[in-house]
Amino acid sequence: MNRDQVINFAPGPAKLPQEVLEQAQKDMLSYNNLGISVMEMSHRSSDFSKIINNAENLLRELLQIPDNYKVLYLQGGGTGQFSAVPLNLLNLKEGHTADYIVTGAWSAKAAKEAEKYGKVNVVYPKLDKYTTIPDPSTWTLNPDASYVYYCANETIHGVEFQFVPETNGVPLVADMSSNILTRPVDISKFGLIYAGAQKNIGCAGVTLVIVREDLIGSAMKECPSVLDYKNQVGMNSMFNTPPTWSIYIMGLVFQWLKTLGGAAAMEDINRKKSEAVYSTIDSLPDFYFCPVDKAARSRMNVPFRIGSPSGDETLEKRFLEEAQKRGFVSLKGHRSVGGLRASLYNAVTAQDVDALVTFMKEFHQANQ
Ligand code: PLP
Repeated sequence: MNRDQVINFAPGPAKLPQEVLEQAQKDMLSYNNLGISVMEMSHRSSDFSKIINNAENLLRELLQIPDNYKVLYLQGGGTGQFSAVPLNLLNLKEGHTADYIVTGAWSAKAAKEAEKYGKVNVVYPKLDKYTTIPDPSTWTLNPDASYVYYCANETIHGVEFQFVPETNGVPLVADMSSNILTRPVDISKFGLIYAGAQKNIGCAGVTLVIVREDLIGSAMKECPSVLDYKNQVGMNSMFNTPPTWSIYIMGLVFQWLKTLGGAAAMEDINRKKSEAVYSTIDSLPDFYFCPVDKAARSRMNVPFRIGSPSGDETLEKRFLEEAQKRGFVSLKGHRSVGGLRASLYNAVTAQDVDALVTFMKEFHQANQ
C-alpha cells in the first residue's frame, strides 16, 4: 500500500507529518551536503551541535520556556522518567514523600515505580475505573511533599486534564508524553515536564525533559549517573551518546509546528478534530459509547465502544475489519481495556478525521 492510501490513528509510535518525512528522506543519505547521514554523524561534531541547539531554540520559542528551565533530551522513554523523577526529586524534602494524582494506567505505573524510592501518597482513594478526574477539592495534598505528580493525558484511558493542578508551591511534575505541544502550556507553573517524542513531536528514542534549575542537583546517591539530571545538564544531554537521529527528527517537527502557528494553532485544530469524533459518538448514543466523563475527555485519544457500554465484540471486530479495508489503521483499543481508540495527534489532519467520522456514520447506518 502507498502512504496516501492509509490513515494512521496509532497511539504511538504515531503518524508523523508528511513534510517531516519528506525532509528526512532528502537528508537521509547526505545531510546538508556533508556526504553522511545524521545517523552516521558524531554527536560531538559542530554539525550535530547545530542540530541539537536548533531543536532547543525552536522548542524554547514554541513553549516560551523561561530562562531558569533546562531542556534535556534523554533515553529510556517515559518509563525511564517514572524512575528518574523520584530518584532526582524525592530528596528535595526530608520526608521523601511525593503526591501522585492517579487518573489512569500511566500515572498508576509511575506511582508504583516511585514507591521503590520513597513514600507515595495517592491524593484520593484508588478509582475503580479511569474515566474521570476527581474534583480537586476532594484531593488531599501533602504540603511537605517533595513534588506533586500527574499525567496530563492518559493515553490508554483517554482522560486529559483541562486545567493545571494547583499545588501551593510544591513542585509540579507532569507526564505530557501524549499531549505536549498540542495546546499552549504555562511552563512557569511546573517544576518538571517530560514527554516521550513518539506521539506528537517525533519518533521513538528521545524523551524530552524540561526542568526548573533549582530542582537539579539533589538526586539520591543510588540514582544511576545516566538518569541524574545534573550530569545530563552539565553535558548538554551528552553524558552518554544521545539519540541523534530522534533529536534531528524532533527538530524537524518543531520547525513544522512553528510554520503551522505553534501550540495555539494546534490547540484550535485539535479541539475541532476531537469534537468531530466525540459529537459523532454522542449523536448516536445507542450505538457508540465513550466511557470518559465529558469534562475529562482527551483531545488526543478517543476511546469508544460499539453496541453497548461494555462493547459488542462482533460489531467491534467488524468495525476494525471494515476500517482496515478503507486504509484506517491502529484503531484497536489498548489490550488492557479493549474496544476502540482513535488517536488524533498533531500529525493527524482534519481531513483524516473527516474520513473517520464519515466511516463511523456509515458503519452505524449499515449495522444499527
Ligand atoms: N506516559 C504516557 C502518557 C504514555 O502514553 C506512555 C506510552 O505510551 C508512557 C508514559 C511510556 O512511554 P515509553 O513507552 O516511551 O516508556
